Amino acid sequence: MTLLDDARGLADELSQLRHRLHQRPEIGLRLPRTQDAVLEALDDLDLEISAGSEISSVTAVLRGGAGEHEPEEPRPVVLLRADMDALPVHEEVDVPYRSVLDGAMHACGHDLHTTMLIGAARLLDARRSTLQGDVVLMFQPGEEGYDGAQKMIDAGVLSAAGHPADMAYALHVMPNMMPRAHVSTRPGPIMAASDGMFVTVHGAGGHGSTPHLTRDPVPATCEMVLALQTAVNRGVDAFDAVVVTVGSLHAGSRRNIIPETASFEATVRTFDRSVRRRVKDLLIQVCHGVAEAHGLVADVEYVEEYPVTMNDSAATEMGLEVANSLFGADRTDVMSRPITGTEDFSRVIDRVPGAMLLLGACVDDNDPLTAPSNHSPHAAFDDRVLPDGAALYAELALSQLT
Ligand SMILES: [Zn+2]
Repeated sequence: MTLLDDARGLADELSQLRHRLHQRPEIGLRLPRTQDAVLEALDDLDLEISAGSEISSVTAVLRGGAGEHEPEEPRPVVLLRADMDALPVHEEVDVPYRSVLDGAMHACGHDLHTTMLIGAARLLDARRSTLQGDVVLMFQPGEEGYDGAQKMIDAGVLSAAGHPADMAYALHVMPNMMPRAHVSTRPGPIMAASDGMFVTVHGAGGHGSTPHLTRDPVPATCEMVLALQTAVNRGVDAFDAVVVTVGSLHAGSRRNIIPETASFEATVRTFDRSVRRRVKDLLIQVCHGVAEAHGLVADVEYVEEYPVTMNDSAATEMGLEVANSLFGADRTDVMSRPITGTEDFSRVIDRVPGAMLLLGACVDDNDPLTAPSNHSPHAAFDDRVLPDGAALYAELALSQLT
């Protein structure tokens, strides 16, 4: 029996578990039902488990049984990460196991990641005697904007085996963009860094009929929003990708009242550390400069949120070799470009060499090119990739440790 055969033998069990998780999605850092479900699913395995109390994390260490090691000589450690949280989205997918909770949905497929890593734990447990090192299974809450990865790092997940992990991998399922059961990744940047900019423009309000007696923050703010795009367009190399999106803009209460302030928020995505610094400086300068030109003052808060998800070249190559060996070269490919989403797994592979791999999970009724994306209320993920994902997680560890 191959690893993939064994994984396929778990298919029904994994689908049922995924359906249970999918029906009751939990958002943020506190996922008590999900944490219980993970602990229950791992209960019959010989693992060193620590469950978070402040946040609903689960860290499980699987000790390999092969190889002679001096006590002081550290054994190699591979970390495998699955995120577990859902999104504040009302599910519109018509499946028997759709979310029973209004306004909560596993719209990013993290229920599949959780299930696949549990499958991997079973597969690795059965092969424990061949492992010449240890595996850390990182079940993480709060990926969707809560920085759960950093919180688990602060709590010591990277050294859960007793010494630092040598390699780290994460999978992400995709309901679109790629065919079902295909594995894609790339060396270097695979997902963007994300920063937030919060700007308040202070003027002096008054009657809308007499703007000359006020200092109107509204036109200045409008200019800023447009000038941000021009600044990036003129100030950054055309081959360095940058996205600046003003997603929130507020001013005033009535058409004939000039407000005291206007404010907006922007998200900024970049793929390179030096470009990130350059863009930050440019955007802040534009806001202050435009405000000053209007005789106004701008408060600019610039928050560096998540780093670039930077795949290590060697780890990526090994990941692709593993996917090729499991599924064949016609089901793997190297992405020509990164995607502009953000991942807090970037925190992990900022510290440990590693890689994130994408796994296609498009359902039969959808075309990957037009299917609803992650975070859509219509995002649909096919259960049939669960054994593939479990086998892939497991083999990423086995290939390093046997
Ligand atoms: Zn996600």
